[in-house]
Amino acid sequence: MIDFSLSEEQRALRDLAHDFALNEIRPKAAYHDQTGEFPRDIVRKAWELGLLNTHIPQEYGGLGLGVLDGCLLAEENAWGCTGIGTAMEANSLAEAPVIVAGSEEQKRQWLTPMTEEFKLAAYCVTEPDAGSDVAGIKTTAKRVGDEYVIHGQKMWITNGSVADWYFVLAYTDPSQKHRGMSTFIVPRDAPGVEVGKKEKNMGQRCSDTRAVTFNEVRVPAANRLGQEGDGFRIAMGAFDHTRPMVAAAAVGLARAAMEHAVGYAKERSSMGQPLARHQAISFMIADMAKDTEAARMLVWLAGWTIDQGRRNTREAAYAKAFAADTAMRVALDAVQIYGGYGFNAEYPVEKLMRDAKVFQIYEGTSQIQRLIIAKEIFDRA
Ligand SMILES: Cc1cc2nc3c(=O)[nH]c(=O)nc-3n(C[C@H](O)[C@H](O)[C@H](O)COP(=O)(O)OP(=O)(O)OC[C@H]3O[C@@H](n4cnc5c(N)ncnc54)[C@H](O)[C@@H]3O)c2cc1C
Repeated sequence: MIDFSLSEEQRALRDLAHDFALNEIRPKAAYHDQTGEFPRDIVRKAWELGLLNTHIPQEYGGLGLGVLDGCLLAEENAWGCTGIGTAMEANSLAEAPVIVAGSEEQKRQWLTPMTEEFKLAAYCVTEPDAGSDVAGIKTTAKRVGDEYVIHGQKMWITNGSVADWYFVLAYTDPSQKHRGMSTFIVPRDAPGVEVGKKEKNMGQRCSDTRAVTFNEVRVPAANRLGQEGDGFRIAMGAFDHTRPMVAAAAVGLARAAMEHAVGYAKERSSMGQPLARHQAISFMIADMAKDTEAARMLVWLAGWTIDQGRRNTREAAYAKAFAADTAMRVALDAVQIYGGYGFNAEYPVEKLMRDAKVFQIYEGTSQIQRLIIAKEIFDRA
């Protein structure tokens, strides 16, 4: 049997997130977009309500929710505002490698405090000269006695200045390429950690994006996740858990843009009838609706697959690529339907168009998702 219905608990969870998005996120979205101010109070309130860190297993103090549950929350947060939503979701990306590869002790050390106090974390893989080409990173971690000395610079790090700890990918043996990488947890207050200026981004402006430099930073060897050489697998494996949620956020944005476009098309008239009565407009809306629904189904498939304990790399890439491209197209068409008002910052769809773009870039660009899909098709056939 195939069943697309949500359980009562899932519907309650989604309703809670929707109310939060409607009452707490949406009213402040324009302010945070205009000022770029990090939405600390909103993120803290979400934490108080149990809307953050939801996938931390129960034995470490979390709710132990699945990826599909996380997708339901991410869609609602993003429907409210994807800048604030990204600030809320960044913890998940940093925590996923600890959940996937951390020892019992590491989970207690790094995950449990996230549930006891309001804390934030960041995932540090990208560097100024290496994003898609992960093997091109230059950061190194040298073993010195019971410690590692980490040296290098990360770029475009979400939660860069507000994180309490960083998940960091570095080379322990550069000659081994992908097999020479290892991952570490670095506390924010470790001597040698330097945070750059807040980046002025096109969209999602209140999300805190920065360079983070690790200047001969010493961490205990106990802060290494997994074995030396496991780093690439751990850092990329986290994406199987988080890409469905990023894709869900893109669906939330597409849904918001479509709702605005539908409302406007009913109200605004041209040549004697509402825009909605012009077939050119109603077909754009029909495409928005079918693509948003298709994206949501791919998101649910990717979340459900990993929740069943199955590998979902291909499904997660389908969802991420399709949902990101859908969000971008729907937001662009929403601007078109608003006409001149769509180009104006006092109307909501201009922000959505700016916010949508980064879905095709972060957590693996749309080109990289296609590379993954093609690799899955040809290498695993
Ligand atoms: C707002 C924001 C937040 C981010 N947050 C984080 C974060 O928290 N942590 C983190 O580690 N990173 C983060 N990133 C970085 C993000 O993941 C990278 O920007 C992304 O992976 C692309 O890397 P790049 O910018 O170096 O572009 P490049 O890798 O240089 O790519 C440039 C272009 O070339 C294309 N391209 C590259 N290689 C290929 C190929 N082999 N085949 C076809 N096309 C290719 C890309 O798709 C892209 O269009 C963030 C980025 C942004 C903008």
